[in-house]
Amino acid sequence: MKSVILLGPPGSGKGTQSEKLCKEKGWLTISTGQILRQEIQSQSAIGLQVKQLMEQGSLVPDSIVLTILSEHIAKLMQNDKAVPGLIFDGFPRTLAQAQALQDFSWAPSQVHYFELSDDVIVDRLSGRRVHPSSGRTYHIHHNPPLQEGIDDVSGESLIQRADDREEVIKNRLKEYHAHTAPLIQFYQDVSKQSKQVQFFVYDASLPIEMISEQFQNHL
Ligand code: AMP
Repeated sequence: MKSVILLGPPGSGKGTQSEKLCKEKGWLTISTGQILRQEIQSQSAIGLQVKQLMEQGSLVPDSIVLTILSEHIAKLMQNDKAVPGLIFDGFPRTLAQAQALQDFSWAPSQVHYFELSDDVIVDRLSGRRVHPSSGRTYHIHHNPPLQEGIDDVSGESLIQRADDREEVIKNRLKEYHAHTAPLIQFYQDVSKQSKQVQFFVYDASLPIEMISEQFQNHL
């Protein structure tokens, strides 16, 4: 099965683009952030372990992320539902995770990097609202729901994520620059060495529809 990585800072639109691709073309998203939030919601042992780290905007240890990811994938494989492709959203976030993914049976053939400056990120994340159980995201100004505070599909309430508060966003950006940004060079090098991996860059400050057109044309 074809699989692609969405790489970029928090708030660069990875979730929005993967959501569109799922809705419009039937792709499947694996978002480690969403899986971890579900662990917290169900108060599992892992959920209790990661709650504080996530609320303060720190990365969760690689060993935990790789464990939940392989469990999630094992479940998906049992499910056996035919999908055109798989999107990794928010994974990998460290070089160790990227290296683990290279040995994976669904190793990605494309990396899509969404580039955005820190000041735009702060505006985007502080205005973001989410529907907790589906992970659908909105922005109070740039992508508002039909009715304020309400999810368009389920009619349920939207929330602001605890880690979308301004003081936490700063720590998430620090973590991104320290641990995730080096993956840009890593995947550029991988794509130069191997024709099997393509690397694409988008200006993530452009309107959602414009990026979506470029992104979906590359798939
Ligand atoms: P996201 O929904 O992708 O913005 O992720 C929210 C939070 O979940 C991050 O700030 C991290 O605390 C944690 N997280 C999600 N994915 C990963 C990952 N691949 N590695 C480490 N921490 C992660």
